[in-house]
Amino acid sequence: MKLVRFNLVGDRFGRLTVIEKVATDRPGRWWRCLCDCGNIVERSTSKLRDSRIGDNSCGCARRDSIRKAHEAAVKATTKWRGPHKRQLKWMLGNMKKRCLNPRNSHYRYYGARGIRIHQPWLDDSSCFYQWGIESGYERRLSIDRIDPNGNYEPDNCRFVPLAKQAANTRRNRFLTWNGCRMHISGWAKALGVRQQALQHRVDRHWPITRIFTQAFRRRQPCTN
Ligand SMILES: [Zn+2]
Repeated sequence: MKLVRFNLVGDRFGRLTVIEKVATDRPGRWWRCLCDCGNIVERSTSKLRDSRIGDNSCGCARRDSIRKAHEAAVKATTKWRGPHKRQLKWMLGNMKKRCLNPRNSHYRYYGARGIRIHQPWLDDSSCFYQWGIESGYERRLSIDRIDPNGNYEPDNCRFVPLAKQAANTRRNRFLTWNGCRMHISGWAKALGVRQQALQHRVDRHWPITRIFTQAFRRRQPCTN
């Protein structure tokens, strides 16, 4: 008499719970199993006990893991994909603070002066990210506005080394006024003032209108 040496009914293997033994002429012992998802499948003992099968289910565990991986991939590739994503995200965040938050210490040089951010960048940050990568963003580069009185928008932005930008900001070279763009020395000559006097106003982030319209103090001619 051949005894059933073991009985798996009631045992759990992964998502499968063994319901009953299956009468079959296939080799080995076969069990009818209920999966957590409600499907009923038949499995051999060796397959149920095979520890290499991470997926002891009707097949739904594998489908779930594929779906999860797919969702994660979609999420990762549709927003801040690829290299430099954190740096560019941080950059956009700072831009928003300067231009949009009156409580930011730099707001008076940006938002208060009417410096705006390209609307599509605000609406969808991945749009800024895409522009950044296409425009050659690299680590240690900083966003710079070509016309310092212009907005943060694709046509007016570029990436420059941090040191260069600092120099540009401090020693701003070109000014646009009344539609005319000229080097600061040219403006000084045109206005009949010293270049340093003009530069002084630029360095202090005066609004462009004030730079050009506020009267310059004339130095008293030396009478000695
Ligand atoms: Zn299942």
